[in-house]
Amino acid sequence: MYQKQYTGCLLGSAVGDALGMQTEGMSLGEIKQKFNIVFDYGPGMPGSPNEKLRPGQYTDDTEQTLILTRSILEAGKFDPVLFSKKLVEHYAMIVSHPGSNRGWGRTSLDSCKRLQSGTPWKESGGDSPTCGSSMRVSPIGLLYPDNLEQLERTAVDSSLPTHRHPESIGGAVAVASAVSLAITNTSPDIVLKTAGSLAKKYDPVLGNKIFSIEKMRYMPELNAFSAIGTSLMTRDVVPSAFYCFSKNPLDFSRAILTAINAGGDTDSIAAITGAVSGAYLGIDAIPKKWLDGLENRDEIESLALELWEIGRHNMKE
Ligand SMILES: [Mg+2]
Repeated sequence: MYQKQYTGCLLGSAVGDALGMQTEGMSLGEIKQKFNIVFDYGPGMPGSPNEKLRPGQYTDDTEQTLILTRSILEAGKFDPVLFSKKLVEHYAMIVSHPGSNRGWGRTSLDSCKRLQSGTPWKESGGDSPTCGSSMRVSPIGLLYPDNLEQLERTAVDSSLPTHRHPESIGGAVAVASAVSLAITNTSPDIVLKTAGSLAKKYDPVLGNKIFSIEKMRYMPELNAFSAIGTSLMTRDVVPSAFYCFSKNPLDFSRAILTAINAGGDTDSIAAITGAVSGAYLGIDAIPKKWLDGLENRDEIESLALELWEIGRHNMKE
């Protein structure tokens, strides 16, 4: 049970990231002018941080999600020390081969540098409210499919090594809870209410913004995204992703297309949208051509299945 939700979540997130990377940093108007609508994979834009990426390749969002996933599988649970060690290993690779940096943000890079020089994981995180710990947190949702208390504590700990700001922590808790509720087919209204309540404990503005999505999903996209915002701040990315999901709860493709055409931090918005929508609808809802065109698809799918083995044991009988 739920295997397809697990593979749907991790693959959905990677598909969203890979589709969204081509429009990352463009405004909604620029996307419209250049593409009219983006509806399939494409190369990274020349001059953007993704310019060396080919169609179907993913960015730092998926890299960090996979690092978190591998650390969980290696330890059999979330281990912040092991996770931090793996972050530092990747950071060291970026330092020695700067061309391999797929858009790791300043907050993450500076935090990894502190981790590398011995700062404990609870203190190493940057104090900028960016979305780096929200975009990678979906494996924590998969780890605790029906235990919100354990999930909340673990999501907080998964944020701290790189993101200590309460807004980032609230975003990570919100996204992890949304994924876990989506796996068990909870209605999008309840997903928003629960994620908003949890986020509010850490950042009231973020929590209230997530609550407001329930009404905003009836607004046209142009108006909704200009009201929510699409910058790389957690307060914009997480509510925008929840808007994309809750506007199109039964349609993975439409949810992702809404995200990648939103403008701003499209890869992270689409990565989170894909994680929640994929968890809700399962892998069969993801178009085959997107799965087939995705870099590293087989490994991501098998990691998701390994995570399912742990997640189902964590489920209460
Ligand atoms: Mg990215």
